[in-house]
Amino acid sequence: MTVSFHLCQPGGGASCGACCGLYNFRDHSRLAVAEQLSMQTERLRRVPWEASAWHEAARELLAARRAEPMFSAVRVCPLLGFVDNERKQVGCLAHPLVTGGTDLRDCGVYRSSVCETFTCPSFGWLTDAQARLVQVACADWYLYGLVITDVEFVRGCLRLLEWELAGPARPEVLMEQPEALAAVRRMFALKETAPRRGTNATVFGRFNRDADGEPVPRTVDYVKLGVRASPEDDVVLCLGYAPKDATELMGARELVRSHVKAVARALAA
Ligand code: SF4
Ligand code: SF4
Repeated sequence: MTVSFHLCQPGGGASCGACCGLYNFRDHSRLAVAEQLSMQTERLRRVPWEASAWHEAARELLAARRAEPMFSAVRVCPLLGFVDNERKQVGCLAHPLVTGGTDLRDCGVYRSSVCETFTCPSFGWLTDAQARLVQVACADWYLYGLVITDVEFVRGCLRLLEWELAGPARPEVLMEQPEALAAVRRMFALKETAPRRGTNATVFGRFNRDADGEPVPRTVDYVKLGVRASPEDDVVLCLGYAPKDATELMGARELVRSHVKAVARALAA
């Protein structure tokens, strides 16, 4: 499985900046992230396209950062911003396609050659059809990056749908049917909308932050909660739920189940 198109800027409203640190804060809500990007975009818009000026602006922006990164391994680049006037596309403000020719990416947190060649694991782990489904269902600068980078979440949702359908859940078919696609969007959008995920600030999707600031995978403590594993639990974890008791876990499972069933119903209509 390898995605044959570029996942970072696939078009149609989808764009991603996750590996540039877009979500790497405890508060990575849409509002907080949009404010950060707007601030960086405004600041860099006034800087001449010269390396010394961009180095200086990058230093300033790093010093003014609203919070420390959640995971130290993922650097947060101050050169990320909105690359369109409508502020609907996140991307690298230092990229030659944005500056009109000058490559200023060496002024960010990685070397330009790293930025140019890096591909995240989703390029290798998602199929073309799965990635297209995410692109079309999440045509949105904030949601797309949250979903396209969480392979377990995408696969987990589609696996649950296959169980519900007792047959294949083909992305091509989901994309052809507007009602089904809208239901898929609501299912993927749980990444943003799922309620009552608590304020456990050390959780990001499937991961906990350890004492050194490194991500460590989480599991459900079934013994402590006194429940058995269920097929929804992978998705429940990807949504960032850290249930403290069986009731919370059951509620999260039901939320996932109801969204999967809604997709199945829309497909059958
Ligand atoms: S996280 Fe993946 S899809 Fe997103 S910008 Fe980075 S390489 Fe591209
Ligand atoms: S300079 Fe590199 S790390 Fe920074 S925003 Fe651009 S692509 Fe991302």
